[in-house]
Parts: sequence; structure tokens; C-alpha cells
Amino acid sequence: MQLYDVVVAGSGPAGSCCAKALKDEGFSVLVLEKEFLPRHKTCSGVLFGQTQELVRTYLGGDAPPEVYCSNKYVQADDICEWDDERGYIPYTWEIDKDGKKFSRTYQNIWRNKFDKWLLDQSGAGYRDGTRVKAFDSSGSFVKVHVQTARSNESSVFTCKYLVGADGNDSTVRRLLRAQTPESAQRQRLASFQSYYKVGSLGSLKKDGWTVFLRPDIGDYILCVHQKDEYLVMHVGGVDGRNLRDSMEKFKELLSSRFGVTFGEHWRDEGCMCELLPIFMGKENVLLTGEAAGFIYLNCEGISAAMDSGYRCGKAIARSLRSGGKSAKDLYTEDCQDILRHVEKCLTQMHFLA
Ligand SMILES: Cc1cc2nc3c(=O)[nH]c(=O)nc-3n(C[C@H](O)[C@H](O)[C@H](O)COP(=O)(O)OP(=O)(O)OC[C@H]3O[C@@H](n4cnc5c(N)ncnc54)[C@H](O)[C@@H]3O)c2cc1C
Repeated sequence: MQLYDVVVAGSGPAGSCCAKALKDEGFSVLVLEKEFLPRHKTCSGVLFGQTQELVRTYLGGDAPPEVYCSNKYVQADDICEWDDERGYIPYTWEIDKDGKKFSRTYQNIWRNKFDKWLLDQSGAGYRDGTRVKAFDSSGSFVKVHVQTARSNESSVFTCKYLVGADGNDSTVRRLLRAQTPESAQRQRLASFQSYYKVGSLGSLKKDGWTVFLRPDIGDYILCVHQKDEYLVMHVGGVDGRNLRDSMEKFKELLSSRFGVTFGEHWRDEGCMCELLPIFMGKENVLLTGEAAGFIYLNCEGISAAMDSGYRCGKAIARSLRSGGKSAKDLYTEDCQDILRHVEKCLTQMHFLA
């Protein structure tokens, strides 16, 4: 039986950056991912200014060309909200962090390619199609129970630390909090995205990203932007709203008001999310990225995930090496600026219709 220093559940930006930090420090890491890679993720796929800096700092340079789609760049000034009376008005997607400003030229990427590139850069071994189902952390090691998608077999991996980087609907978080269903009565938000080949953009801003706050169509932001030859449309609602109807209404608005025409339908995707309170885990089971509640409104989550994931990995490495302070304490101390920024974004940004 192989003993890993760390097993990471989830191969999104948080999991891969956590794995990278640990591998760079010479520790053994295994990433477990329930989907087959490269996997799609419901996301607009925009790297904001802070994210680009983190990519360069943690990965040593930009992602390779195949990760980007055209238009590769989206200027912050071309991200606008549409108001029926005033026309296009500014819509802010990223604010300064502790007084630091970031590039206002954003990058348009394919999430499946970006996330797989991040994972490959980490140098960690991984198993895809492998879902973390349970864990047992009662001794000094953690036993992680998984189920594989192809053969439906169960197996167990043993490690010193388990990191839950398994996103908003985190199994690891749920298991840690099994006795306190803190989110049971909270409102859940649903996101739904459709991809259609662009017929014509009509009068929509070319190379832009247009946001609508229309309670008659969705409970939070609707948005539309282009990726390669596809128009990506997002609608959002609280539990219970029929988002396929919302999408049809949104398409109708885009064609009647802007003259947009749609080509062939490619695919739909969706997910449920909650604004989770911060919870970074306990003892030798830590949480990072969205699983820990790290996200900057308005859905600028890749940077929060990368940054918290990397710091989580570094904190575990320091604790494993020194045997002194607990990894959880080191991780918490090191994330104070991220926590402040989560709070600042929550109070200063708006996305509800
Ligand atoms: C509609 C929408 C648009 C968005 N647009 C942007 C954007 O343009 N820019 C931006 O910065 N952010 C955006 N975000 C936010 C961003 O996508 C997330 O915040 C980010 O992906 C979080 O990263 P993560 O690594 O924490 O989790 P994730 O990226 O969700 O990765 C978690 C991984 O864990 C895996 N997993 C889950 N459960 C298990 C399990 N039990 N066992 C093993 N693996 C498991 C999942 O399959 C997944 O691969 C958007 C979000 C939404 C909903």
C-alpha cells in the first residue's frame, strides 16, 4: 500500500495549485477527480487581471496558446451592463485588492483546457473518473474511500493530509460538517449556459461581454459573450425557476433588441451553487477553493481558488517539514488577505437582478 503525503480531492484550479505547491516542496501528492479529464466546467472562462498574475507567479508563465479562444482578450471597458433607457453602462467584474490594481485586459479561455494544463503543470499524479466518497481520519493517517466510474470498484488511499478541493458541492466539506447541516436552509443559485454558433452578433459589442439584470428573465445576472465561433449565454435563478425557459426568453431578447442570430446549437451545461461561509477544515483534512467558500463576487473564482489552493499546499508543506504549528493554523494565517477580499467583494459588488 502506498502512503501519500497528501491526497487532493478535485482537479480544478484549487486542487492543481495545491498539488503544485506540495510537489515543488518535494512531497508526494495524488489528485483524485470524479470526472474524466479534460472535463467541462460551467464557467464563463475569463481570466481576470489578478488570475493572470497568479498564473505567472505560481506557474512561471502564461498558459500555452491552445488554452485561449478568440477573441483572446476582453477589455474591462467592453464589459457592460445593458440598460433599456441608458444603453451600455459600465459593469465592474474585478476590484482592487488591498489597494492593488490589476490589468484591465482579461483573457478568454476554455476551462477544460486551462484546468488540464494547470494539473499537468503541477507534476502530481492523478486518477480521473475516481470519486471521493468518504474518509476516515480517526488515527494519524487519513483513509480516503473512492469509487471509480468505469469499473464501479471501491478502493482506499492512505495519506497524511486530505485536501477537499472539490468545488462548491464539496463532498469533503459535507462529510466534515456531517453533524451540522449549516447550509440546509440556505438559498441555492442555479446557473445554466448554452452554446450556439454565432450567426450574427447584430448590434452586440464585438469582443465584449454584455450583462443584463432582468428579474423577468433571471434572478441574477444574465450574460453573453463569444468564444471562438460560439456565443455563450448564461442565465441564473434561485431554486425552482425553469432556466430553459429563461434561456429562451434571453435568446428572444438578444434577437429582438440586438438583431442577434443563432446558428447550430452545440451544448448546454449547468450547476448549482451556494455562497458558502468560509470553512477551511480541521486537523488533517483541509478545504480550499470554492469548497472552503473562497470566491470573489462577481464569480471571479479562479483566482480565489488558485491562491487559496497554493497557500493550502504551502501550509501543509511547512507543517509536515517542521512538525510544529498545525497546517490549519498556518493556512488560516496566510489567507487573511484573501478573506478580506472575499468580504470586500461581497459588500461592494452586485449581481442580483
Ligand atoms: C456560471 C459561472 C461562471 C463563472 N465564470 C467565471 C469566470 O469567468 N472567471 C472566474 O475566475 N471564475 C468564474 N466562475 C467561478 C469559477 O468557475 C469557480 O470559482 C472555480 O472553478 C472554483 O475552482 P475550484 O478549484 O475551487 O473548484 P472547481 O473548479 O469546481 O473544481 C472542483 C473539481 O472537483 C471535482 N469533484 C467534485 N466532487 C468530487 C469528489 N467527490 N471526488 C473527486 N472529485 C470531485 C469536480 O469534478 C471538479 O473538477 C464562474 C462560475 C460560474 C458558476
